[in-house]
Order: sequence, then structure tokens, then C-alpha cells
Amino acid sequence: MNELVVRAEKALDQDLCDHCLGRLFALVDTGLSNDERGRSLRMAVNLSRSLENQEPLLPHVRCSVCDEMFDMLPRFAAAVVEKLGTIEFETFLVGTRVDPIIMEREERLWGMVSQDKAETIKAEFNREIGKAVQALIPQEVEFATPDVVALVDTRFCHVELDISPLFVYGRYRKFSREIPQTRWPCNRCRGKGCSKCGGKGKMYQTSVQEFIGDPLQREAVGVDHFFHGMGREDIDARMLGNGRPFVLEVREPRKRRVDLLALQAEINEVGRERVEVEGLRFSSREEVRQIKNASPDKEYRVWVRLESKVNKEQLNEVVQSFKRIRITQQTPTRVSHRRADLAREREIKDLVLEELDGQVATLRVRTEAGTYVKELVHGDSGRTVPSLAGKLGIACVVEALDVIEIADQT
Ligand SMILES: [Zn+2]
Ligand SMILES: [Zn+2]
Repeated sequence: MNELVVRAEKALDQDLCDHCLGRLFALVDTGLSNDERGRSLRMAVNLSRSLENQEPLLPHVRCSVCDEMFDMLPRFAAAVVEKLGTIEFETFLVGTRVDPIIMEREERLWGMVSQDKAETIKAEFNREIGKAVQALIPQEVEFATPDVVALVDTRFCHVELDISPLFVYGRYRKFSREIPQTRWPCNRCRGKGCSKCGGKGKMYQTSVQEFIGDPLQREAVGVDHFFHGMGREDIDARMLGNGRPFVLEVREPRKRRVDLLALQAEINEVGRERVEVEGLRFSSREEVRQIKNASPDKEYRVWVRLESKVNKEQLNEVVQSFKRIRITQQTPTRVSHRRADLAREREIKDLVLEELDGQVATLRVRTEAGTYVKELVHGDSGRTVPSLAGKLGIACVVEALDVIEIADQT
């Protein structure tokens, strides 16, 4: 007699439904569903028993593993569809929490019948509920990055949704020297509100993140937002030129079909003369990773007050000596409280004197990512070498700084 039929007969010492019987041999052939395989194995066992003049199997009444849970599939599917109906999504996946008692019974059965070809009841539930849901709604099952995972607790027919974040890419410009890139909670009260922050819970009234994230979160009906920028500029630096790439992440969005053109218009209207965005489009967690790993060259315009008069030729000569050189920067004193004290080498790609007006020089500088431009100018008490101040032999004070290009597109 067929080895498979022998093992099926042994398994049927206890009452099993077709699903639980067929699932024991799920990896033997993949063309059949578990219940189809279970049904044919049961028939094969009865056939072989009749050939050997044995009594047929007792009729199936109640499954000793799943308690006839598979009869509930349509109810689980309906509960999933109802819950999914409360949100917008294109792709979904079904997951299940199966009663631990059922999983224990399944493992005990594996102990009695060889389990090397078996599939877990959880895997079968996930797939079968997913198929039943798919038959009821137009959205597609997706395994890698579904918009939402519907988690069914099979004990209570309860469904929970795990909604994937919504990601939106764009570039921003910042025309203010008083707005940080990201939300900045008060460091004393951590957002609760105290005397230091005037009850606001934050150190700065607003941020680039809030200009973009607040309206996006409202449109997507989400619960919170996170800002992923391709680097950041100092609060007092404007961000001009082609703008800085970012991805805004909205957690638990109940809507995903946000009108990004209308949103962009609203952000630019509200942000007028402070923050502006362009090129908004839907993005992904993968792009967040790319943005965080990118290290494009940057170009800045910097206004420098020279402590004493320097003639233009002499200044130009020093400025030109910075073209294509490597400088060494010890972590600046102004950030050393939050960064490790390290010496880093960075390349200055270009330095150009644009204007000298009395004792104020306007310079354009192009550098490798991660260069501290203010320190390149004033020298940070000898922690950046060489520096403009060091080479000129006079103190240089940065009056203002703008980022004028993020060179990620070249
Ligand atoms: Zn069963
Ligand atoms: Zn506070």
C-alpha cells in the first residue's frame, strides 16, 4: 500500500477534517488545496480498507485539531472586509492569531505522524482567509509591502489593522533663518509644556516638518508624522536653489489617495516667504533609506565679516588656495555635546570670492557632504585646519549662510 495512505490512515486514528488531514502532507504536492488533498486521502484510505475487507473509517464529525474552525472562513473573511472598509488602500495581506491550544494539538499530531511534509494551520488560515477576502474586494493581496495587514484573532473573530505608513517625497526651500528643519520639542518638558517653552512644549514655534507634515497628516487622516531629510541645514541658514530632498512619513493613514498638487499649493500658500515645496509625489521606505544614505556635494553662499581691512588681491589669493584641497575638522565645539569628538577630512571643491564690500566678503563655497562651513571660515579655535581665518591671520565672523545647491541630481 502507498506510504502516504498508510500515514494518512495512522493520522485518522483521531477525527480530522479534510483541511487538517491534507495539511499534514501539504508539501507532497502543491497543485491541490489542503482540503482537496485531505478528501482524496480519506477516499484512498477507505478504498484500501475495503480491498482488505476492513471496516470503513468512522464518518467525520468534529475535527480534533481545529474544532471545525474552517467552517468559520466566510465569517472571518466578512469581518476582514468590514474592517478594511474603514480605510483606503490598494494592497493588503491577511495574518492570523490562532488559539495556542489549537497549535498545541497540531504539534501533538505532528509528534504521532511524521511532520516533514506538513504546513502550519496558521499558514493555511492566512492563505485561505486571504483568498476568501480577495474574492470579495477589488484590492490585491501583496506579500512584500502591503498597504495594510488585517490581523484576525480566530478565537474572537476580531480583526485589527496594521496600516503601513504613507511616504511622500519632495524638495523644500526655506527662506527663514528662524525655522528648524524638524519639530523641536522643549528639552525640559519634552513636549508637555512648561515655563521654559511658555507652555508650548517646543523650542521653536514651527518647523519645515510641521509646514509639510501637518497638512499631509490631516489629509491622510494619520496619527503622527516623521521627517527624513537628505541632511539638514542650521536653523539660521536659508535653504535655497534647487531645494533639499526629503520624504515625509505619515503613520497609520486612513486615506492614501491624497491630492498632492492641491496639498503642495496649500503648503506654499501657508508657508509663503518661509517654506516652499515642489515635486511632491508618493514614495517608499526604500527611498527613505536612499535619502538617508546619500551624501551629495553642497554649495553655499556665506557672508563673512573680516576683523580688519584686507585688500582684495590678497583675499583672492587666499580664497583661491582653498580650491580642491582637503581640510581636517575636529568636531565643532557647537555640536560636540551631541556628537563624538573626531577629526574628519573633507574636500573643499571650490571657493570663490563673489564680492568684497568694505569688510564684508561674499563667498561661494562647494564642499563634500559633511563639511562644517562656518568652521571652515572662522577656524573654530584651530580645530579646523586650514581655515580662512587661519590663512588670513585675522578673525573672520560668519554673518549669514545659505545653502544654494544640493548636488544630488548631477
Ligand atoms: Zn481541522
Ligand atoms: Zn517646556
